[in-house]
Amino acid sequence: MGTKLQCNKCKDIIESKDVHHFVWCKCGAIFVDGGDEYCRYGGEIEDIKFLDEGDDDSENKNRDRS
Ligand SMILES: [Zn+2]
Repeated sequence: MGTKLQCNKCKDIIESKDVHHFVWCKCGAIFVDGGDEYCRYGGEIEDIKFLDEGDDDSENKNRDRS
């Protein structure tokens, strides 16, 4: 599990793998924290692309494309 997000600004992919693993994307627009425990993230919702979550309501659902 864990929350994996991609920043729509810098295209950096960030993932929190531990409850104390707080990660910013390269440009600092978004962050993720909490690992499997509580999956916290933040930033402008329009800058966030959800890569691993099933309930993804962003407009770009191309998580398996590379
Ligand atoms: Zn970014």
